[in-house]
Amino acid sequence: MFDLKGRTGLVTGGNGGIGLGFARGLARAGASVMVAGRNAEKNAAAVAELKGLGAEADAVIVDVTDAASIEAMVAATAERFGGIDILVNNAGTNIRNRPEVYAEADWHAVIDTNLTSAYLASKAAYPHLKGSGHGRVINNGSMLSIFGLPFHIAYAASKGGVVQFTKSLAVAWAADGITVNAVLPGWIDTELTRKARKDMPQLNDNVLARTPKGRWGAMEDFEGLAAFLGSDASAFITGVAIPVDGGFSVQG
Ligand code: NDP
Repeated sequence: MFDLKGRTGLVTGGNGGIGLGFARGLARAGASVMVAGRNAEKNAAAVAELKGLGAEADAVIVDVTDAASIEAMVAATAERFGGIDILVNNAGTNIRNRPEVYAEADWHAVIDTNLTSAYLASKAAYPHLKGSGHGRVINNGSMLSIFGLPFHIAYAASKGGVVQFTKSLAVAWAADGITVNAVLPGWIDTELTRKARKDMPQLNDNVLARTPKGRWGAMEDFEGLAAFLGSDASAFITGVAIPVDGGFSVQG
Protein backbone atom coordinates (compact mmCIF):
# COMPACT_ATOMS: atom_id res chain seq x y z
CA MET A 1 0.00 0.00 0.00
CA PHE A 2 2.90 2.35 0.78
CA ASP A 3 5.13 0.87 -1.91
CA LEU A 4 6.58 3.54 -4.21
CA LYS A 5 8.74 1.26 -6.34
CA GLY A 6 8.64 2.38 -9.95
CA ARG A 7 7.47 5.89 -9.01
CA THR A 8 9.42 9.12 -9.22
CA GLY A 9 9.38 11.97 -6.73
CA LEU A 10 10.66 15.49 -7.41
CA VAL A 11 11.38 17.51 -4.27
CA THR A 12 12.14 21.23 -4.49
CA GLY A 13 14.47 22.27 -1.68
CA GLY A 14 15.12 18.54 -1.22
CA ASN A 15 18.79 19.05 -0.40
CA GLY A 16 18.31 19.87 3.28
CA GLY A 17 15.94 20.44 6.17
CA ILE A 18 12.32 19.38 5.80
CA GLY A 19 12.74 18.77 2.05
CA LEU A 20 15.41 16.16 2.71
CA GLY A 21 13.00 14.57 5.19
CA PHE A 22 10.37 14.32 2.42
CA ALA A 23 13.01 12.96 0.01
CA ARG A 24 14.16 10.33 2.51
CA GLY A 25 10.58 9.19 3.10
CA LEU A 26 9.97 8.76 -0.63
CA ALA A 27 13.32 6.99 -1.05
CA ARG A 28 12.74 4.59 1.85
CA ALA A 29 9.36 3.64 0.28
CA GLY A 30 11.17 2.72 -2.95
CA ALA A 31 10.71 5.82 -5.14
CA SER A 32 13.36 7.29 -7.39
CA VAL A 33 14.02 10.82 -6.18
CA MET A 34 15.14 13.99 -7.93
CA VAL A 35 16.49 16.56 -5.50
CA ALA A 36 16.17 20.17 -6.68
CA GLY A 37 17.97 23.08 -5.06
CA ARG A 38 20.30 25.99 -5.83
CA ASN A 39 23.36 24.69 -4.03
CA ALA A 40 25.27 22.00 -5.99
CA GLU A 41 27.25 20.76 -2.97
CA LYS A 42 24.13 20.33 -0.84
CA ASN A 43 22.39 18.62 -3.78
CA ALA A 44 25.27 16.14 -4.17
CA ALA A 45 25.33 15.34 -0.44
CA ALA A 46 21.57 14.69 -0.45
CA VAL A 47 21.85 12.41 -3.49
CA ALA A 48 24.63 10.42 -1.79
CA GLU A 49 22.47 10.06 1.31
CA LEU A 50 19.43 8.86 -0.68
CA LYS A 51 21.57 6.38 -2.62
CA GLY A 52 22.80 5.11 0.74
CA LEU A 53 19.16 4.23 1.50
CA GLY A 54 19.13 2.08 -1.66
CA ALA A 55 17.21 4.56 -3.81
CA GLU A 56 17.79 5.80 -7.32
CA ALA A 57 18.54 9.49 -6.91
CA ASP A 58 19.82 12.45 -8.84
CA ALA A 59 19.88 16.23 -8.51
CA VAL A 60 19.07 19.25 -10.60
CA ILE A 61 19.97 22.87 -9.97
CA VAL A 62 16.92 25.11 -9.80
CA ASP A 63 16.01 28.61 -8.76
CA VAL A 64 12.31 28.35 -8.01
CA THR A 65 11.83 32.10 -8.47
CA ASP A 66 12.59 31.63 -12.16
CA ALA A 67 9.89 30.10 -14.40
CA ALA A 68 12.35 28.87 -17.06
CA SER A 69 14.48 27.20 -14.37
CA ILE A 70 11.38 25.41 -13.03
CA GLU A 71 10.45 24.17 -16.50
CA ALA A 72 14.00 22.89 -17.00
CA MET A 73 13.85 21.11 -13.60
CA VAL A 74 10.63 19.34 -14.55
CA ALA A 75 11.95 18.38 -18.01
CA ALA A 76 15.22 17.07 -16.56
CA THR A 77 13.36 14.93 -14.02
CA ALA A 78 11.00 13.43 -16.57
CA GLU A 79 13.91 12.70 -18.90
CA ARG A 80 16.08 11.16 -16.17
CA PHE A 81 13.43 8.90 -14.62
CA GLY A 82 10.81 8.56 -17.38
CA GLY A 83 8.06 10.57 -15.69
CA ILE A 84 6.99 12.32 -12.49
CA ASP A 85 4.50 10.77 -10.07
CA ILE A 86 5.03 12.88 -6.96
CA LEU A 87 5.82 16.60 -6.88
CA VAL A 88 6.81 18.06 -3.53
CA ASN A 89 6.69 21.87 -3.53
CA ASN A 90 8.85 22.44 -0.48
CA ALA A 91 11.44 25.15 -1.26
CA GLY A 92 10.86 28.18 0.88
CA THR A 93 12.34 31.23 2.49
CA ASN A 94 11.46 33.95 4.97
CA ILE A 95 12.42 37.61 5.33
CA ARG A 96 11.33 39.10 8.63
CA ASN A 97 10.55 42.78 9.19
CA ARG A 98 7.83 45.04 10.55
CA PRO A 99 5.00 45.66 8.03
CA GLU A 100 5.44 49.45 7.94
CA VAL A 101 9.03 49.12 6.68
CA TYR A 102 8.69 45.85 4.77
CA ALA A 103 10.48 46.31 1.43
CA GLU A 104 8.51 45.59 -1.74
CA ALA A 105 11.43 43.58 -3.16
CA ASP A 106 11.42 41.37 -0.05
CA TRP A 107 7.67 40.88 -0.34
CA HIS A 108 8.04 39.66 -3.94
CA ALA A 109 11.04 37.46 -3.10
CA VAL A 110 9.11 35.62 -0.38
CA ILE A 111 5.87 35.28 -2.37
CA ASP A 112 7.77 34.11 -5.47
CA THR A 113 9.81 31.53 -3.57
CA ASN A 114 7.02 30.11 -1.40
CA LEU A 115 3.84 30.44 -3.46
CA THR A 116 4.37 31.30 -7.13
CA SER A 117 6.93 28.49 -7.37
CA ALA A 118 4.30 25.92 -6.34
CA TYR A 119 1.93 27.16 -9.03
CA LEU A 120 4.65 27.15 -11.71
CA ALA A 121 6.05 23.72 -10.80
CA SER A 122 2.59 22.14 -10.58
CA LYS A 123 1.62 23.59 -13.95
CA ALA A 124 4.85 22.40 -15.57
CA ALA A 125 4.54 18.91 -14.03
CA TYR A 126 0.84 18.48 -14.85
CA PRO A 127 1.23 16.37 -18.03
CA HIS A 128 3.52 13.96 -16.16
CA LEU A 129 1.32 13.81 -13.05
CA LYS A 130 -1.73 13.15 -15.21
CA GLY A 131 0.13 10.53 -17.23
CA SER A 132 1.17 8.78 -14.01
CA GLY A 133 -2.41 7.70 -13.21
CA HIS A 134 -1.66 8.28 -9.50
CA GLY A 135 -0.18 11.77 -9.50
CA ARG A 136 0.54 13.43 -6.17
CA VAL A 137 1.27 17.05 -5.27
CA ILE A 138 2.47 17.78 -1.74
CA ASN A 139 2.75 21.48 -0.88
CA ASN A 140 4.63 22.75 2.15
CA GLY A 141 2.69 25.31 4.17
CA SER A 142 3.31 26.40 7.76
CA MET A 143 1.65 27.21 11.05
CA LEU A 144 1.56 30.69 9.48
CA SER A 145 -0.93 29.30 6.96
CA ILE A 146 -3.27 29.59 9.97
CA PHE A 147 -1.81 32.11 12.43
CA GLY A 148 -0.35 35.60 12.05
CA LEU A 149 2.91 37.00 13.41
CA PRO A 150 3.92 40.69 13.24
CA PHE A 151 7.26 40.26 11.46
CA HIS A 152 6.06 37.69 8.92
CA ILE A 153 3.54 39.40 6.63
CA ALA A 154 4.87 38.07 3.32
CA TYR A 155 5.63 34.62 4.71
CA ALA A 156 2.16 34.28 6.25
CA ALA A 157 0.50 35.59 3.08
CA SER A 158 2.46 33.11 0.96
CA LYS A 159 1.73 30.16 3.25
CA GLY A 160 -1.96 31.02 3.59
CA GLY A 161 -1.97 31.14 -0.20
CA VAL A 162 -0.35 27.70 -0.38
CA VAL A 163 -3.33 26.18 1.44
CA GLN A 164 -5.97 27.86 -0.74
CA PHE A 165 -3.95 26.98 -3.85
CA THR A 166 -3.86 23.37 -2.61
CA LYS A 167 -7.64 23.22 -2.24
CA SER A 168 -8.37 24.66 -5.68
CA LEU A 169 -5.79 22.49 -7.41
CA ALA A 170 -7.19 19.41 -5.64
CA VAL A 171 -10.66 20.14 -7.03
CA ALA A 172 -9.35 20.97 -10.51
CA TRP A 173 -7.21 17.84 -10.89
CA ALA A 174 -9.24 15.22 -9.00
CA ALA A 175 -10.64 13.81 -12.25
CA ASP A 176 -7.07 13.37 -13.51
CA GLY A 177 -6.29 10.96 -10.68
CA ILE A 178 -4.07 13.56 -9.02
CA THR A 179 -4.32 14.31 -5.31
CA VAL A 180 -3.07 17.61 -3.92
CA ASN A 181 -2.43 18.06 -0.22
CA ALA A 182 -0.54 20.42 2.06
CA VAL A 183 1.65 19.82 5.07
CA LEU A 184 1.77 22.44 7.84
CA PRO A 185 5.01 22.11 9.82
CA GLY A 186 5.21 23.54 13.32
CA TRP A 187 8.59 24.64 14.67
CA ILE A 188 11.17 22.38 13.03
CA ASP A 189 14.92 22.43 13.71
CA THR A 190 16.42 23.43 10.33
CA GLU A 191 18.78 26.06 8.89
CA LEU A 192 15.78 28.39 8.48
CA THR A 193 14.81 28.34 12.17
CA ARG A 194 18.42 28.23 13.41
CA LYS A 195 18.80 31.69 11.85
CA ALA A 196 15.62 32.87 13.61
CA ARG A 197 16.85 31.40 16.92
CA LYS A 198 20.05 33.43 16.64
CA ASP A 199 18.07 36.67 16.12
CA MET A 200 15.51 35.88 18.84
CA PRO A 201 17.18 34.27 21.88
CA GLN A 202 13.82 33.73 23.63
CA LEU A 203 12.46 31.66 20.70
CA ASN A 204 13.79 28.30 21.91
CA ASP A 205 12.07 28.52 25.32
CA ASN A 206 8.85 29.80 23.73
CA VAL A 207 8.71 26.92 21.25
CA LEU A 208 9.36 24.29 23.91
CA ALA A 209 6.73 25.79 26.23
CA ARG A 210 4.13 26.22 23.48
CA THR A 211 4.53 22.78 21.84
CA PRO A 212 2.61 20.03 23.69
CA LYS A 213 5.14 17.38 22.56
CA GLY A 214 7.80 19.51 24.29
CA ARG A 215 10.40 19.43 21.53
CA TRP A 216 11.32 20.94 18.18
CA GLY A 217 10.27 18.93 15.14
CA ALA A 218 12.94 17.15 13.09
CA MET A 219 13.28 16.31 9.41
CA GLU A 220 12.58 12.66 10.34
CA ASP A 221 9.05 13.71 11.35
CA PHE A 222 8.25 14.21 7.64
CA GLU A 223 9.42 10.87 6.27
CA GLY A 224 6.33 8.78 7.05
CA LEU A 225 3.93 11.46 5.86
CA ALA A 226 5.77 11.78 2.54
CA ALA A 227 5.43 8.03 1.96
CA PHE A 228 1.75 8.12 2.95
CA LEU A 229 0.77 11.15 0.86
CA GLY A 230 2.89 9.93 -2.05
CA SER A 231 1.37 6.46 -2.13
CA ASP A 232 -1.89 4.70 -3.00
CA ALA A 233 -2.68 4.59 0.74
CA SER A 234 -3.86 8.21 0.50
CA ALA A 235 -5.71 7.90 -2.83
CA PHE A 236 -9.02 9.32 -1.48
CA ILE A 237 -7.45 12.16 0.52
CA THR A 238 -7.18 15.42 -1.38
CA GLY A 239 -7.29 19.15 -0.65
CA VAL A 240 -6.39 18.83 3.03
CA ALA A 241 -3.70 20.54 5.10
CA ILE A 242 -2.08 18.28 7.68
CA PRO A 243 -0.27 19.86 10.66
CA VAL A 244 3.03 18.24 11.66
CA ASP A 245 3.54 20.35 14.77
CA GLY A 246 3.62 18.27 17.95
CA GLY A 247 0.18 19.64 18.87
CA PHE A 248 1.13 23.33 18.51
CA SER A 249 -1.98 24.29 16.51
CA VAL A 250 -4.57 22.51 18.66
CA GLN A 251 -3.57 23.65 22.13
CA GLY A 252 -6.03 26.17 23.59
P1 NDP B 1 15.92 25.23 4.95
O1 NDP B 1 16.45 26.62 4.92
O2 NDP B 1 16.67 24.18 5.69
O3 NDP B 1 15.64 24.73 3.48
C1 NDP B 1 15.13 25.56 2.48
C2 NDP B 1 15.26 24.81 1.19
O4 NDP B 1 14.67 25.57 0.15
C3 NDP B 1 16.70 24.55 0.82
O5 NDP B 1 16.81 23.25 0.33
C4 NDP B 1 16.96 25.58 -0.28
O6 NDP B 1 17.87 25.08 -1.23
C5 NDP B 1 15.59 25.70 -0.91
N1 NDP B 1 15.40 26.99 -1.56
C6 NDP B 1 15.21 28.20 -1.00
N2 NDP B 1 15.08 29.15 -1.94
C7 NDP B 1 15.20 28.52 -3.13
C8 NDP B 1 15.15 28.95 -4.48
N3 NDP B 1 14.96 30.23 -4.81
N4 NDP B 1 15.30 28.03 -5.45
C9 NDP B 1 15.49 26.73 -5.15
N5 NDP B 1 15.55 26.25 -3.89
C10 NDP B 1 15.39 27.14 -2.89
O7 NDP B 1 14.46 25.41 5.55
P2 NDP B 1 13.33 24.38 5.97
O8 NDP B 1 13.69 22.99 5.69
O9 NDP B 1 12.96 24.79 7.35
O10 NDP B 1 12.16 24.87 5.00
C11 NDP B 1 11.59 24.05 4.01
C12 NDP B 1 10.14 24.45 3.87
O11 NDP B 1 9.45 24.23 5.10
C13 NDP B 1 9.92 25.92 3.52
O12 NDP B 1 8.86 26.04 2.60
C14 NDP B 1 9.52 26.52 4.86
O13 NDP B 1 8.76 27.67 4.71
C15 NDP B 1 8.71 25.37 5.45
N6 NDP B 1 8.54 25.47 6.89
C16 NDP B 1 9.59 25.37 7.76
C17 NDP B 1 9.36 25.44 9.12
C18 NDP B 1 10.44 25.28 10.12
O14 NDP B 1 10.16 25.42 11.33
N7 NDP B 1 11.65 24.99 9.74
C19 NDP B 1 8.01 25.67 9.66
C20 NDP B 1 7.01 25.78 8.66
C21 NDP B 1 7.26 25.68 7.33
P3 NDP B 1 19.32 25.82 -1.48
O15 NDP B 1 19.98 25.89 -0.14
O16 NDP B 1 20.02 24.95 -2.45
O17 NDP B 1 18.95 27.16 -2.01
